[in-house]
Amino acid sequence: MNIYDWIVIGAGITGSALAYELSKKQFKVLLLEKDTIADNATVYSYGGLAYWSGTTELTRQLGQEGIELHRQLSAELDGDTEFRELDLLLTCDRNDHPETIAKNYANFTIKPDILDIKQACELEPLLNPNAISGALRLPHGHIHSQKTAIAYQQAFLRQGGKIIYERVDQLLQEGETITGVVTEKNTYHSANTVMCAGGLSRRLLTDAGISSKIYFTHSLLIRTPPTDIKLSTIVMPAVQQRFTLEARAEELTKESGWDNYQDDLLESILDAGAVQFLDGSLCLGQISALATNPEAKLDTELGESAIRKKVGIILPMLGNIAGTCETCLVAFTNREVAVVGNVKNISGIYLFNGFTSTLVFAPPLAKHFANWVAGENSEIIEQLNCGVE
Ligand SMILES: Cc1cc2nc3c(=O)[nH]c(=O)nc-3n(C[C@H](O)[C@H](O)[C@H](O)COP(=O)(O)OP(=O)(O)OC[C@H]3O[C@@H](n4cnc5c(N)ncnc54)[C@H](O)[C@@H]3O)c2cc1C
Repeated sequence: MNIYDWIVIGAGITGSALAYELSKKQFKVLLLEKDTIADNATVYSYGGLAYWSGTTELTRQLGQEGIELHRQLSAELDGDTEFRELDLLLTCDRNDHPETIAKNYANFTIKPDILDIKQACELEPLLNPNAISGALRLPHGHIHSQKTAIAYQQAFLRQGGKIIYERVDQLLQEGETITGVVTEKNTYHSANTVMCAGGLSRRLLTDAGISSKIYFTHSLLIRTPPTDIKLSTIVMPAVQQRFTLEARAEELTKESGWDNYQDDLLESILDAGAVQFLDGSLCLGQISALATNPEAKLDTELGESAIRKKVGIILPMLGNIAGTCETCLVAFTNREVAVVGNVKNISGIYLFNGFTSTLVFAPPLAKHFANWVAGENSEIIEQLNCGVE
């Protein structure tokens, strides 16, 4: 019989980091992933590390730990995460005032510089000066998130961890205890199971009768092949509508409920932005759309043309660049950082999911989580874990 200390479900950035940290604590760990070719939020991510965005003691500490961790992660994992530090340029709409928008950033660990149109265009020559009233500049970190997940997985395998590519269909339950999982092919037993399945976590939990405050949006973005055009910064809007959509998600789904898997598009937003990776490829985005069925089919043709139009206004050279529209689910929660910890009244099952600023917060939290389950003190996990329900 296959018996593990821990089963981790999902090999995106959260599951890969957590599997690595758990195996570092000498646990016998199985990482289960449904796709042999990754097709998830980690693959399509911009890769930004918003370590400056802490507004509370907890998020300030995690931001600091996160950037310090990323600065040495390639060396620790012996695999290139493509970490670098560069400017994040937050564009202000032509009708907005940068000084007014900057007030929304007043509580962050690092306050942005306010740039006028000329300064913004000097920093990012691809910007259209007629489309903005100025910009905010922040120091940002950047990684290739999929290469980082792979580096975690390789280091995990070297530590004796096991990865199996099978879809988890069900949690195995004996009374009030989760004792493993049933996949499309096998049954695996474990003392503990942790859910890192991104936007699909909620469905697996619901099927096991476990309610959770994990939600998701459908994201649409454009990926391009490597290009000679050079984007110097990461460009995003200073007023991001995604956060407003996430804050309204519960209200918008009040009637339909989250677990009826409706295809209807309840609302969608478009935050126009662009990022370039070290190989010269770009990611242009992004639309976030709310539909409670994780398999809802979005109109990618319409989405692609909307992204191209809006990105093309701000960064005219990128609007028509060759590329393909991709979709994925992005999990989120209405909690401060993530849904992390054990589940109330059911033993053997843990959640590590729904992160905000996932790429900067999840790696240090994976370390804290592994320390905590190994019996060491972790005030941070104690604070986040209130017997997740
Ligand atoms: C366009 C875009 C830009 C972004 N930019 C940033 C950014 O700049 N900074 C930032 O911090 N975040 C950003 N994000 C968000 C961030 O990328 C995600 O929050 C993060 O990658 C989620 O990681 P995850 O491991 O939770 O989920 P995922 O990467 O979605 O991984 C979940 C995995 O679980 C697997 N799985 C699901 N169900 C099962 C099952 N039943 N059995 C087995 N396996 C299963 C899936 O196949 C998948 O591989 C961005 C996202 C997008 C889409």
